[in-house]
Amino acid sequence: MAQKIPTEATMEKIVSLCRRRGFIFPSSDIYGGLSSCWDYGPLGVELKNNIKQAWWRAVVQQRGDMVGLDTSILMHPQVWTASGHLEGFSDPLVECKSCHLRWRSTDLEADNCPACGGELTEPRQFNLMFRTSMGPVEDEASTVYLRPETAQGIFVNFQNVLDTTRKKLPFGIAQIGKSFRNEITTGNFIFRSREFEQMEIEYFVKPGTDEHWFNYWLDERLNWYLELGIKRQHLRRRQHTKGELAHYARSCYDIEYRFPMGWSELEGIANRGDFDLRQHAKFSGKSLEYFDDETKEHYVPYIIEPSAGADRSTLAFLVDAYDEEQDKDEVRVVLRLHPALAPFKAAVLPLSRRPALVEVAQQIYADLRQCWMVGYDDAQSIGRRYRRQDEIGTPFCITVDFQSLEDNQVTIRERDSMNQIRVPISELKTILAAKLSGEDLATQPLWTTKG
Ligand code: ATP
Repeated sequence: MAQKIPTEATMEKIVSLCRRRGFIFPSSDIYGGLSSCWDYGPLGVELKNNIKQAWWRAVVQQRGDMVGLDTSILMHPQVWTASGHLEGFSDPLVECKSCHLRWRSTDLEADNCPACGGELTEPRQFNLMFRTSMGPVEDEASTVYLRPETAQGIFVNFQNVLDTTRKKLPFGIAQIGKSFRNEITTGNFIFRSREFEQMEIEYFVKPGTDEHWFNYWLDERLNWYLELGIKRQHLRRRQHTKGELAHYARSCYDIEYRFPMGWSELEGIANRGDFDLRQHAKFSGKSLEYFDDETKEHYVPYIIEPSAGADRSTLAFLVDAYDEEQDKDEVRVVLRLHPALAPFKAAVLPLSRRPALVEVAQQIYADLRQCWMVGYDDAQSIGRRYRRQDEIGTPFCITVDFQSLEDNQVTIRERDSMNQIRVPISELKTILAAKLSGEDLATQPLWTTKG
């Protein structure tokens, strides 16, 4: 029986696992990498897609009051004037007079350069938006920006969505997409990068009901992380102080996660009042009022915004799932990922490469692939192969052995408990589906548990 050992999922361990097993690589790796940009490998793309799908299922598919959008990254430049980003989306930047490294002054604990101790310049505001130009002529008129958040694409489509879906308040719009910020200081792996993916909701409500909906979304979002396996003691809410509040926000909470470098923001939930719709109405000249059929009133809805990051969530799920335990003479590394998030739901392992076994194993592999992402591994000992699957979070291994050729049964071995059951191949899909949706491995009176 494996012995639990106290595990500290350090950033080094996570980065090393991600690289070694193909979750995440530095961007443009063969050229030495590009600072603060990352590439998701074959396993990483599955994990991140599963996170995005779980989010979309919870906030769009399973609800009657939400719809989705996928808006363009480049938007009309006026959007950024209206939103306040052109004027105010900046961080205070200081530069070291000796080594010329640049820092965000709010990140510094002392008055001197953290790298060389040199004297720092006075802070100046540095706009975080990436600027580029559109069309063949580069001049002021052609300047466009890579969006620093996906939210604005939702606000400017409020009327389009109302007209085409006939939704009534309260309702929300969700979007997943890339955002870009020319952050002064990046780091902590995928926690803060310059290109990242957001998962944002803008929930439109009647003024006066906003506090209720704000609290509602705070609970909903916290529960989403808990349901997908993040430990309660690793999550907390933190209210923004008056000084921290963005100019448009009436109130704001961060959901924070205990990352290896300390408690940090995982998701922000803000009550934005009617700021955004009023600004866009003013700058576009289009009315963005809502007509309430029941009360016959016209008003500008308030907006509750739960804004999460797909990359930060990926990091949090990886850190939280990482575990080490002593198993005989070895340390077993296990990613205890929720089955919904695991890159592979199962792996098929033939006990040997004998053609008769391979034929059965390949048939099972081909069959299961129609339903799930499934791995196949026939290299080295079965013990090593189990370890490899544990390390990438595969919830179930399916072993095909010589007895399978006689009785048409295979062994299912569960990642966390390492318990095994023997099941008929003809029932494998049904049983795996039940196990993946949370049924206990032992709940199967027809088959025997090997232990
Ligand atoms: P921070 O204070 O950490 O810079 P923020 O308050 O600026 O974050 P928001 O503008 O609220 O972040 O963005 C919403 C979410 O988008 C964040 O909670 C985070 O998950 C994600 N996010 C924001 N900036 C980055 C970044 N540079 N890299 C990765 N994810 C990010």
